[in-house]
Amino acid sequence: MKQVLLLNADYLPLDIIDIEKAYIHLSNDKAVIVYEYDEPLKGVNNDWPYPSVIRLRQYAKVNKQTKIYEPYNRRNVYRRDEGSCQYCGNDITYPKMTIDHVNPRALGGKTNWTNIVTCCRKCNAKKDCVPLDETGMTLRNQPVIPFSEATIQRGLLERLKTKTLNNENTIHEKWKDFFVWMK
Ligand SMILES: [Zn+2]
Repeated sequence: MKQVLLLNADYLPLDIIDIEKAYIHLSNDKAVIVYEYDEPLKGVNNDWPYPSVIRLRQYAKVNKQTKIYEPYNRRNVYRRDEGSCQYCGNDITYPKMTIDHVNPRALGGKTNWTNIVTCCRKCNAKKDCVPLDETGMTLRNQPVIPFSEATIQRGLLERLKTKTLNNENTIHEKWKDFFVWMK
């Protein structure tokens, strides 16, 4: 059974659904067809359009199940912190960036989104292995796990690759328009 790519109202991929679910959205007037497969859906009396991509009319808030977070890595920490030292606020170039464990590693601080911030060399040396509240330094932003719409797409692509479809050739050509990195 061919699958249907469900887009949010802003054209970002939201889910991969089966044809029955797609037709529920369409018949309730909740969604519109963006692209169809070449072959129609054979009905008893007549053929029906076989949607390949449908789009919600109203923007659906991304719920917890579909929320996918940015993977933790140095580059993404830099992006989250907009390239500025989270202590002094100075802009730093990526090669000059250091990462700081807010709660020092020596004291059991983890290397993860909520304990790592972008830091300039000067502040990093100043902070050393001292707990933050003993340094007199303050954080400009509380480190959080970032979430972006692009990662919804990436997460969906992973699902496409691992579960739903094993090879890129079986994805309807038109889907690629909505998964920008596939080009
Ligand atoms: Zn600094």
